[in-house]
Amino acid sequence: MKCILCERFSLSHICTPCQEKFLTPSLYKRKINNTQVYTFYQYSEIKDLLYTKHSDLGYYIYRLLAQKSFGEFARSFALEREDEIFASIAIDDAPKSGYSHTAILNEALKSDHIKVLRNILRDESGVSYAGKSKAFRLLNPRKFSLKPFAHKELILVDDIITTGLTFSAAIKKVEQEGKEVAFCLALADVRSNKNDKGYK
Ligand SMILES: [Zn+2]
Repeated sequence: MKCILCERFSLSHICTPCQEKFLTPSLYKRKINNTQVYTFYQYSEIKDLLYTKHSDLGYYIYRLLAQKSFGEFARSFALEREDEIFASIAIDDAPKSGYSHTAILNEALKSDHIKVLRNILRDESGVSYAGKSKAFRLLNPRKFSLKPFAHKELILVDDIITTGLTFSAAIKKVEQEGKEVAFCLALADVRSNKNDKGYK
C-alpha cells in the first residue's frame, strides 16, 4: 500500500519515516480547574489525520497515535510507591460509528501503575460540541453520570481539548463523588503552542 502522507510504498498506512517526522509526540501542559492537563500534539499538527476519525482508516490512525503518545507515556509513568495504582477513565467512551476514540486512547494507558476502567463516565446531555462555539457550549453544559469504582485517584482521558469545558465538567463531577483527578490527558489541544512544552 501507499503511505497516506508521502505516498511512497509502505507496509502500513503511515510509513516509518513519516511516523517519526510527524507523529513523534511532545508534552504540552495547561491547567483546568487547578488540575494539570497534558497533551501530546498541537492540534494543527495532526488536524488532517483527525479528520479521518469517522472512517475505518480513522480507527487505524487513532490506534497508532494512541500507541505513540498515551502508550509511551504509560510505559514511562512511574509512581513513588510501587503498589500505587491510578484508575484511568475516558470521557464518554460509548462507541460511535463502530468504535470510541477516547476508549482507544484510554486502552493504550494499560500498564503497571494504571488500571484502565471502561464505561464509567458518560455524558447524558445528548449534545454534540463538534464545530460549536464556546457560547453554545456554555449554554448546553455536559451532564455527566459516573458509575461507581474503587480507586480514589484517577486520570481523565479525552481526545481533543477545545475550550476545556468538557474536562472542567468531568473534573467537577468526579470530585463531587469524592474522587481525585491526578491529571488529565488528551491527544491534542487546539490552543497549545511551543511555549506550553515541558513537564511541570
Ligand atoms: Zn510516508
